[in-house]
Amino acid sequence: MSFYENTLKNMQKAAKIMNLDPEALEVLSKPQKTLIVSLPVRMDDGTLKVFEGFRVQHSELRGPFKGGIRYLAEVDLDEIKALATEMSFKCAVVGIPYGGGKGGVKCNAKELSQGELERVTRKYVQAIYQIIGPEHDISAPDMYTNGQIMAWFMDEYSRLVNKYQPGVVTGKPIEVGGSLGRNTATAQGGTYVLQEYMKLHDMKPESTKVIVQGFGNAGSFAAEILHGLGFTVMGLSDSKAGVYNENGLDPAGVMEHKKKTGSVSGFSGATSVTNAELLEKPCDVLVLAAMENQVNDKNMMNIKAKVILELANGPTTAEADEYLSGQGVVVIPDILANAGGVTVSYFEWLQNQQSYYWPLEEIQTKLKRVMVESSQRVLDIQKEHHCTMRQAAYISAFDRMAKALKLRGSGANLLCKVYNH
Ligand code: GLU
Repeated sequence: MSFYENTLKNMQKAAKIMNLDPEALEVLSKPQKTLIVSLPVRMDDGTLKVFEGFRVQHSELRGPFKGGIRYLAEVDLDEIKALATEMSFKCAVVGIPYGGGKGGVKCNAKELSQGELERVTRKYVQAIYQIIGPEHDISAPDMYTNGQIMAWFMDEYSRLVNKYQPGVVTGKPIEVGGSLGRNTATAQGGTYVLQEYMKLHDMKPESTKVIVQGFGNAGSFAAEILHGLGFTVMGLSDSKAGVYNENGLDPAGVMEHKKKTGSVSGFSGATSVTNAELLEKPCDVLVLAAMENQVNDKNMMNIKAKVILELANGPTTAEADEYLSGQGVVVIPDILANAGGVTVSYFEWLQNQQSYYWPLEEIQTKLKRVMVESSQRVLDIQKEHHCTMRQAAYISAFDRMAKALKLRGSGANLLCKVYNH
């Protein structure tokens, strides 16, 4: 099953439980617009390479399209459609006034020089700029894109429309309109969600053992935050390898080692394990912060975690999700667990629109409130419908989206035209 088919399957299950109007389900099952572009870019060695780029605008029922851009060799339209769709639900779960979108460029970012990355980014913006904008479609970082790429994105867009437009993209460095707290937002938001779940199930950090897959933006901060709260972080992994110590690791030490050597592998005081082995170790909470399809039909039988926290998008396939819920494993779903990222993106965008920047405490207080309230709403829905947390999160989102659709009119005259500047 493809990633998009997975998403549709999850949607259908939740729609059935809540008795969603079939017309609403049909509207939500189709992205409003998909754009495929080709990007001819001059490489450092003088050759010309043509990259393929995508932008999918899933829904603007509740506000402008919002979602990140990934630079990945395996990117395809199916994946971007799934991710754009999930962005709409993610924004609806946390009640921020955005719809969903997603973009990507099929390239291996790790092999490109800074100059090549800049040229790819500027070409991508030139190719999609007519359908984006601070009030229409707002991008952000995702896999293998970062603050520097967002800065180029903003610069190129501002140049094309001939005015400073920091709000066209979030996740920017502070110096060019970024927000305090955006870097740690996904991990921090996920921690708040986990804590709400733990309160309800009488779990305490001191007696909770955690494994974190993925040591990038989401995973490395999650490991540090959880360690700081008293959780035992037993295992960590990056794309190359994993490290494990039953008695706990110091994530900051592992990060220092990774900065020096390029990988977590070889960290002293830990045994080396493969990424696949790490996922199958017994633990209380398995944090999936790497990429999609990590827990699937091949390894689902060997998962020994009690709770899975999805900080990545789509790390558990629909089949594995069904199997794990049958086994009593709780999956805290991506659209809730990792929504802290887009929530602080929203704060960044608000600050850009006002040209007024908030202190960190204000961001943290506001993020906490959004994550706690959204988690409680999902947990209440779960209780009411006796369903999984994923289904409850989808129901929470569908409820808000279906109401918006009804109010706007079922033949909603959504902005499908090319945006004129
Ligand atoms: N790429 C992140 C996500 O999937 C952040 C999106 C955003 O901030 O717009 O949630």
